Amino acid sequence: MKTIIRKIENLQLNSDVIEKAGMILRDGGLVAFPTETVYGLGADALNEEAARKIYAAKGRPSDNPLIIHITNMDALKKIVSEIPEEAQIAAEKYWPGPLTMIFKKSSIVPYGTTGGLDTVAVRMPSHEIARAVIDAGGGYIAAPSANTSGRPSPTKAEHVEEDLTGRIDMIVDGGTVEIGLESTILDLSVTPPMILRPGAVTKEMLEELLGEVAVDAALSEDSKKPPKAPGMKYRHYAPRAKLSIVEGNESEVVKEINRIAAEKIQEGQRVGIIGTEETVGCYLQGVVKCIGTRQDEATVANRLYAVLREFDEEDVDCILSEAFSGDGIGNAVMNRLIKAAGHHMIKL
Ligand code: AMP
Ligand code: MG
Repeated sequence: MKTIIRKIENLQLNSDVIEKAGMILRDGGLVAFPTETVYGLGADALNEEAARKIYAAKGRPSDNPLIIHITNMDALKKIVSEIPEEAQIAAEKYWPGPLTMIFKKSSIVPYGTTGGLDTVAVRMPSHEIARAVIDAGGGYIAAPSANTSGRPSPTKAEHVEEDLTGRIDMIVDGGTVEIGLESTILDLSVTPPMILRPGAVTKEMLEELLGEVAVDAALSEDSKKPPKAPGMKYRHYAPRAKLSIVEGNESEVVKEINRIAAEKIQEGQRVGIIGTEETVGCYLQGVVKCIGTRQDEATVANRLYAVLREFDEEDVDCILSEAFSGDGIGNAVMNRLIKAAGHHMIKL
């Protein structure tokens, strides 16, 4: 298959690009497009055959359900059987935006989209290109991250090209995304509401709005329970090299990373180091990359997946990363980093 790649500059909504994308989607094809979180791989969510193509292109396990992307509340009413009051409140505050909510599905949503579940995950993105593509494609677009299953999610069109060229019909290139981590997933079918995947809409933000909010216990480091979001059980976001996270106070962490790096380099390994603006100057050897500043961990969220992909290209044998705060967006950063590391943490 030849993949059409078209660029949209400066958010100038280029109508022929959007029209082309819409036509492919309405015909049951696959189009990757930018959203504010990561690039999504879109297909018509109400067309079971189209949804099936997403699983084939990504190599995604068929029990891992898709999120349906919409642009307005009328569309929500068509695909869910009820809208709980808390969902209405959360939608008023955080839609459009990086929040996905789980609802009971209506009969028009095929099981091929929900991985056989009677619930459906829905998000209303804010990104202008995403919204235009969704509307042009019929208004109900299933769009998981546009990466090969098991690789870091794409935060720019080049990442999508690396993974999916020749496997999908079109890539709409809208530059680098704003947030860089997947949406927060909130399940409102339980009391209190439960976060199934942390993201840019944080627990603190949701608690301010809804009162008590739980976090799926299966996401904690030592849990043996299966996560409630089926996709969270897979070892996603895995770089090729073995990743270890070093946690402790800043100067101790730098010292320990330098010590381990020296040891591995002696053994003949190529070592990658993930540092921050505050620390990169302190690393003495290895391939050192700056992931952002501790003053604003949103910068770290934005660079995380790109840095993991860059290390795949550097061909390093192991990667040592500093840990992040675990507060606010730092919580989502640590969730993804710990998964990428296969839970390998060094605590000082
Ligand atoms: P992705 O779009 O690739 O970031 O993945 C979508 C995530 O949403 C996966 O972790 C899914 O397991 C999760 N998800 C989608 N639909 C549901 C649902 N009905 N219930 C629980 N989790 C869901
Ligand atoms: Mg994904």
